[in-house]
Amino acid sequence: MMDRALVLLSGGQDSTVCLAWALERFETVETIGFDYGQRHRVEMTCRIAIRSAIRRDFPRWADRLGCDHVLDLGVLGTISDTALTQDAAIAFNANGLPNTFVPGRNLLFFQFAAAVAYRRSLKHLVGGMCETDYSGYPDCRDDTLKALQVAINLGMDRRFVIHTPLMWRDKAATWKMGFELGGAPFEALTIDETHTCYLGERSRKHAWGFGCGTCPACELRSAGYNRYRAEGDR
Ligand code: ZN
Repeated sequence: MMDRALVLLSGGQDSTVCLAWALERFETVETIGFDYGQRHRVEMTCRIAIRSAIRRDFPRWADRLGCDHVLDLGVLGTISDTALTQDAAIAFNANGLPNTFVPGRNLLFFQFAAAVAYRRSLKHLVGGMCETDYSGYPDCRDDTLKALQVAINLGMDRRFVIHTPLMWRDKAATWKMGFELGGAPFEALTIDETHTCYLGERSRKHAWGFGCGTCPACELRSAGYNRYRAEGDR
């Protein structure tokens, strides 16, 4: 199990950079994705394109990339009243969280990932959560995920390790990390194939990729890209 990992690959930029990070480190890397009725379900198509591009354009990673698992978590969409799972305008709640927060999402994702990893003998669970430059989701926090690792290991009597390589990086640093891992071809893959926009918009292309340009996810991605470019010019 030591060199075997499972990456939570949503089809977004962060999880795609985490996939590259894992492919640099582990002998075998499988991926898992969740269909939970998200408005931006186009990301489920993107994750297939991302895996194909890695197999095609990155020979040193291609042999390590193992199988893909897609789980239907439609029940999460039916019990969540959020702008990510319903046709509602994105706004901020009284507690300061955007109404794109899907309660319990990452907690459930890691538990289902661990259940698959248990069967597949994969020790390392990798996710793109980050609490440096984020929307404030409490299930992205380092303490949440460390506590979750303990709970999963106790409840499954295994020794899984949860890795969150982006936890202390801002979005500009995530762009830089992607470039350091896979160079210009990986940066092009990130721009062309990954999806971040909450509204599922893919008809408009910007320097940083496709998206509406104004939702919270697009704002984080574009601001990070602009800072990354500005730092590179210094
Ligand atoms: Zn957007």
